[in-house]
Amino acid sequence: MIKNLPDIYVLATGGTIAGRAGSSTKAGYTSGQLDIKEMLKAVPDLDQIARVDGEQVCNIGSQDMSFEIMTRLARKINETLEKQEIDGIVVTHGTDTIEETAFFLNLTVNCTKPVIMTGSMRPSTAVSADGPLNLFNAVAVAADPEAKARGVMVVMNDRIHGAHSLTKTNTTSVETFLSPVTGLMGTVIYGEVKFFRGSFRKHTRESEFTTDYDLPLPRVDIIYACADMPPDLIDASVSRGARGIVIAGDGNGNMNQGSIKAAAEFAKKGIFIVRASRVPTGTVGRNVEVNDDAHGFIVSDELNPAKARILLMLALLKPRTGEEVQKLFYEY
Ligand code: GLU
Repeated sequence: MIKNLPDIYVLATGGTIAGRAGSSTKAGYTSGQLDIKEMLKAVPDLDQIARVDGEQVCNIGSQDMSFEIMTRLARKINETLEKQEIDGIVVTHGTDTIEETAFFLNLTVNCTKPVIMTGSMRPSTAVSADGPLNLFNAVAVAADPEAKARGVMVVMNDRIHGAHSLTKTNTTSVETFLSPVTGLMGTVIYGEVKFFRGSFRKHTRESEFTTDYDLPLPRVDIIYACADMPPDLIDASVSRGARGIVIAGDGNGNMNQGSIKAAAEFAKKGIFIVRASRVPTGTVGRNVEVNDDAHGFIVSDELNPAKARILLMLALLKPRTGEEVQKLFYEY
């Protein structure tokens, strides 16, 4: 059967796109108030570009996103995409942690059909709310056959970002998401989709990660490096059960000598230490100022600390050497 319109299934999780405020011009509001039906009703002409149906997965501000919900979401997406009639998925999500969920889904969704995430910076009740156009554009991208096999993408403010590359860079602006290291995947202007590139990394169908695990995932903490960083933060983390630690290092993934010594001692005992960076753009390279080979550290390469944590949590679901984990950071 030839269909005249693609079937797109929307999974709503909350966020500002579903937020409501007492005033249309003041900053205070509550995330996760509108349900999916109300959200879809606010988007004109959606029925011109796709047949859209969907369901509510949760209704939260994404600061409350958990691995339990992410796992449920990934399993739901895999199950929904198995249906032949479904052409793509749109996930609505708060912007605070959308990059984490996008990267998690990029690793655990096992299908090449498009999975597009979107959100908004202004609540539904604000003057010039950005949610309806973002949702319209996200559906347009999910419905575009060219969106297949590019991995999970995030559509916001006319831009299409890859899950691996995007990061939130501004607390309030609608132009908050950037893909600073490798650039945009494409643009979408009032539903007109243009792609510039594919994904440079393994994802979805080629990914070795699945959702076939029991929660909780192995604990991995992030420690933010700073001048005169107390090295015993690393001890505290390990004593609370962390099997891995991501250091949001200064500059090229650096930390002070005391912290390097503490981290190296734990690395020798089998704790996975990943050097990432608190700097918003650039890569972290091996053996630049820190002797990673001698200390047994792993570098995050292009992943920011939040995404490096997710890759390490999934990696630790099976026994691996430090070298094997390092390889994953270059592949995913
Ligand atoms: N804290 C909210 C959230 O992530 C606000 C961010 C947003 O959605 O713009 O859900």
